[in-house]
Amino acid sequence: MEAVKSYRIPVEAPKDLIEEYFKVKQKALDVIFSHVKFSRRVHLEFNKEERKALRDELLKDWRFSKHYVDSAVNSIIGLVKGWITLHNKGRAGSKPEITRKTVYIKSTLFSCRSGVLKISIEPNKRYLEVDLTKYGWIPKDFDATGGLIMTERELIVTVKKSVEPKADKWASFDVNLTNITAIIDGKVKHYDLRGLYHIHRAYEVKRQRMQKLSKLKPETSKRLLKKYSRRERNRAKDLIHKLTANIARELKEVQSGVILEELRNIKDRVLNGSKNMNRKLSKWNVRMFQFTLEYKLKWLGLPVKYVNPRNSSKTCPLCSGSMASYGGRIMKCEKCNVILDRDVIAVLNLQMRGAGFTQRALNELIERERVK
Ligand SMILES: [Zn+2]
Repeated sequence: MEAVKSYRIPVEAPKDLIEEYFKVKQKALDVIFSHVKFSRRVHLEFNKEERKALRDELLKDWRFSKHYVDSAVNSIIGLVKGWITLHNKGRAGSKPEITRKTVYIKSTLFSCRSGVLKISIEPNKRYLEVDLTKYGWIPKDFDATGGLIMTERELIVTVKKSVEPKADKWASFDVNLTNITAIIDGKVKHYDLRGLYHIHRAYEVKRQRMQKLSKLKPETSKRLLKKYSRRERNRAKDLIHKLTANIARELKEVQSGVILEELRNIKDRVLNGSKNMNRKLSKWNVRMFQFTLEYKLKWLGLPVKYVNPRNSSKTCPLCSGSMASYGGRIMKCEKCNVILDRDVIAVLNLQMRGAGFTQRALNELIERERVK
């Protein structure tokens, strides 16, 4: 299995290349778009000879490495084909547009030795060197780099590694609005998510204020709302990244895979229909946490499995009896009378469904967590 990670690195990109590449893309777009046939079903007729002729034409005053022209042509063919697909569905504008000044750098255009990327700008005379080892957050144990994407201010680097996921044991995570309850190495652990909750709350207050403004200045309020949403997401993502990085490290130490709740189920449908803000936030947190953790574990060669969480906080983990509320977050089994915290019940059931427990380990855990 291949694990992939992407990183953004600030670079001073060669402005001349960025500008010339953009011009070449615009020329290529004019030519390639003229090969779009507007018969009943719109399609592209652009054969090898025509492609070669375009390439030769574009290379005439091109002083940079030739592969850039190939990547520009490829990206424009992709752009036009994407536009055709949309057009045939009746959802495209009048003409495809190049929206960003990005350069796709094929693997033939760079080498990577001892963590230093050497990107060819002009053949045999001009290079851009980027020392990846300067960026501590980029892993050093990758096998290969994928294609690079360069913008005016940054380089997006993709690193790859082949992994064979395996685990000696399993951990489980149950994510709520203000906390995460986990079982790691047979023990219950709690992670505080109140910081995340406060981020969401603070922005909700801002949004409400904006909505009052929307009648007076609809454009301004729309723009500000967008900005707030983006900031909220970024701050929340940042927090989840830091949290999952720590969790992933902990799990690697005990070589533990992870059991998570499968979201496509009844509970999810209930949440979708809900207008309740807390429930929406809770769902967002769960998705973001799961996605981020899985991404990090994949790189470490640790497997992730999903189990159906149906009734997981209402079923007794000891006797499968049903649990009834016993005040606040506390639940009591109607059959065997064990009293446990609702979050502990949920995560315990996930663990049992995903991996099981030995009777002894289960008894020990219940003894520690039992509410007296
Ligand atoms: Zn019970």
